[in-house]
Amino acid sequence: LIHLQGVSKSFDGHLVLDGLDLTIYENEFVTLLGPSGCGKTTTLRLIAGFEEPDTGVVLFDGQDITHVPPNRRQVNTVFQNYALFSHMDVSGNIAFGPKIHGKSRDYIKDKIRYALKLVNLDGYEHANIVDLSGGQQQRVAIARAIVNEPRVLLLDEPLSALDRKLRRSMQLELMKIKKELGITFVFVTHDQEEALSMSDTVVVMNQGYVQQIGTPESVYNEPENAFVADFIGDSN
Ligand code: ATP
Repeated sequence: LIHLQGVSKSFDGHLVLDGLDLTIYENEFVTLLGPSGCGKTTTLRLIAGFEEPDTGVVLFDGQDITHVPPNRRQVNTVFQNYALFSHMDVSGNIAFGPKIHGKSRDYIKDKIRYALKLVNLDGYEHANIVDLSGGQQQRVAIARAIVNEPRVLLLDEPLSALDRKLRRSMQLELMKIKKELGITFVFVTHDQEEALSMSDTVVVMNQGYVQQIGTPESVYNEPENAFVADFIGDSN
């Protein structure tokens, strides 16, 4: 579904991605895993269209989308800090995207109801964002992303602000949502355990390179190099 081919990206002369090749297949739960600063978020932003590569191309369904703006990609993002509008209620936040796309009131209302049900926030339409817990705000951010019916949902460390227990239950919920929607998830984390427990495919990155791509079992049991062995081993 998504191909990054020979993608390089520098910021202020610092090479963050160095000829990155990555293929993401339809309907996979793919996790980009690696230490802080290895280029995970930059990879996600290139897929979303918030950044353009210095060299290389981004393909979607075989079409070159390297220079297509974010709002014309079939991709939505859930950010680490949720990026919700605190002056709007839950419905206002979720309706924002469909309104921009000129959808009807009834359509939007139905979509909001469906999305809130999916993220376990039935009846929260008129709640204020500031009154919600971190976990609930996270759910609103997911609902807001899925009402746009993206083919791909990008999740940038969405659970990092949550405590351990809530994190585990949100992991299970995300897997359920993924299954129900039947769309592709690209998830970013630096947490080995999280990556191994949630994903179909794990992409282990370090310093702008893909170190290994495989199932959780294969990266855990058959690390291809010392970096992967060390990094995955750290979770024990
Ligand atoms: P983290 O888990 O800390 O977010 P990451 O693996 O997601 O790390 P990136 O956020 O992709 O890594 O960042 C890789 C490097 O690129 C970092 O050194 C970061 O400071 C730098 N970087 C990213 N975006 C920018 C930007 N817009 N301007 C300048 N430097 C940037």
